Amino acid sequence: MYDFIIIGGGILGMSTAMQLKRAYPEKRMLLLEKEQGPARHQSGHNSGVIHAGVYYTPGSLKAQFCLEGNRATKAFCDEHAIPYESCGKLLVATNPLEVERMQALWDRTAANGLEREWLSAEQLAEREPNIAGVGAIFVPSSGIVDYSLVTQAMAEEFERQGGVIRYGEAVSSLEERRQEVLVTTSSETHSTRYLVTCAGLMADRIIRMLGQAPGFTICPFRGEYYRLADQHSQIVNHLIYPIPDPSMPFLGVHLTRMIDGSVTVGPNAVLALAREGYRRRDVSPRDLAGMVTHPGLLKVLWRHLKPGMHEMKNSLSRRGYLDEVRRYCPSLELEDLEPWPAGVRAQAVSRDGKLVDDFLFVNTPRTVNVGNAPSPAATSAIPIGAHIVGKVREQVERQV
Ligand SMILES: Cc1cc2nc3c(=O)[nH]c(=O)nc-3n(C[C@H](O)[C@H](O)[C@H](O)COP(=O)(O)OP(=O)(O)OC[C@H]3O[C@@H](n4cnc5c(N)ncnc54)[C@H](O)[C@@H]3O)c2cc1C
Repeated sequence: MYDFIIIGGGILGMSTAMQLKRAYPEKRMLLLEKEQGPARHQSGHNSGVIHAGVYYTPGSLKAQFCLEGNRATKAFCDEHAIPYESCGKLLVATNPLEVERMQALWDRTAANGLEREWLSAEQLAEREPNIAGVGAIFVPSSGIVDYSLVTQAMAEEFERQGGVIRYGEAVSSLEERRQEVLVTTSSETHSTRYLVTCAGLMADRIIRMLGQAPGFTICPFRGEYYRLADQHSQIVNHLIYPIPDPSMPFLGVHLTRMIDGSVTVGPNAVLALAREGYRRRDVSPRDLAGMVTHPGLLKVLWRHLKPGMHEMKNSLSRRGYLDEVRRYCPSLELEDLEPWPAGVRAQAVSRDGKLVDDFLFVNTPRTVNVGNAPSPAATSAIPIGAHIVGKVREQVERQV
């Protein structure tokens, strides 16, 4: 029997496993991942931004964990010799409406305790000669990293402390009993005293395996990117973001300097027709059936019909995508946008048709389950892992 089993070899599963092993070095621990290595889904297909915590509702878990996670991720990278850069981020306003919205963001960054600077059009032009805008907010603590490397280093630390990782083992059923949890995989049934699940795009299915009704379904939103041609790798000095529409803060393609020296444009957000649907043509009948019969998702699609159509149009048209980015980077041309792999976001949608905004956990007497962990969960992985360890500790203490 194991003392703890963790499901999911993304950054949240690995961060939790690493910290759980530190908290309980003598206990037997197993991490199960269905793919052949770590970070094969969201944790390995993202923008690589160490977020500062600009947009999140003050007092939310996102605001708290992102701020802590920004520092913790950089410290972890220092300890493990993982390259990262604190290049800072510019939120660029291109018209008077966006300047108004910039003021609201300025207030929010103050409420979230962030260091920032208000730049005039002239100051913006000095820092970013290729970016056109009427003003900007500069947030110095935003950075960039390769989260696959961070996840890999967490996995190595877990194993070094004696934890066991089994790749290629998909969990197919779960049974929570009074004294144990049975975890059945493609190859065998394991017994554990406590279970943590960090299953990303499959989070709701794993919770259902425990006999729980999660109250939400996971909707996959693909984020498509382009990469700028090599001659544009120096086009920006910082991360460049548009000022978002406050009702849709996650929309708006940005120019992201990647840690490998390239620059990506994106991501957009289009509904994927498969949970792990990285290409437009990927369709899963099972996933699709779950989506079209979920009342919440239909409400979300209806409510956001206009921006949804806009995102879809730009997904199909490189020209439309280019127009988005040319609003603040006018020198780019169509041939500058080269293909780059997409990522798929796991976004929980409630039955009453709301995109669940904050991080969400579903707990039972012997299990802690991550329900909703979209961006900035990679940045927040260390504090989220610490939070989960705290919840597990409460369960352990309650049982003795
Ligand atoms: C396009 C995009 C851009 C993003 N940009 C950023 C960013 O710049 N900064 C940031 O902080 N965040 C960003 N995010 C968010 C961040 O990547 C995710 O929130 C984070 O990686 C979630 O980690 P996770 O471990 O929960 O999920 P995942 O990395 O998806 O891991 C879940 C794992 O569980 C495994 N699994 C599922 N079911 C089973 C099963 N039955 N048995 C065994 N294993 C199973 C999966 O194979 C997977 O490996 C972005 C996300 C996307 C998609």
